[in-house]
Amino acid sequence: MDDDIMDDMQGLAAHNQRRQQNQNIEGLRAELERERSGVAPCPHCGGGLPQIGVSVCKHCRNDLIWYKTVVGKPGQQKACRATYQRLLAEAAVRKKKQEKVGKIVLPFVLVTFVLIVWYLVALIKGLPSL
Ligand SMILES: [Zn+2]
Repeated sequence: MDDDIMDDMQGLAAHNQRRQQNQNIEGLRAELERERSGVAPCPHCGGGLPQIGVSVCKHCRNDLIWYKTVVGKPGQQKACRATYQRLLAEAAVRKKKQEKVGKIVLPFVLVTFVLIVWYLVALIKGLPSL
């Protein structure tokens, strides 16, 4: 194959890979931004939205629609509802996991606490002779 064409193809592949990486980074950034602010970025331009429920993006002036806390473009109501339900389900799973951890950790904390109290009492009263 012609060297120039090979170079072009390699350049294109590298370009596509870079673009993919940028999109991944952009997606992560948007996700972090959302977690930090509590409000999703504009689905049109990615700009930060000041609060839930705004109907027009202040950056790109495009219309926005909302399903509770999830923002979308006009016509995406169904997708927004699905996203909201997925987020709810994920939150429920997270909460369940935390409860499970709490159930395991709590007995250890109690046992440790009892041992510390027993140790302090033993220190004050003098160690019992074994
Ligand atoms: Zn926008």
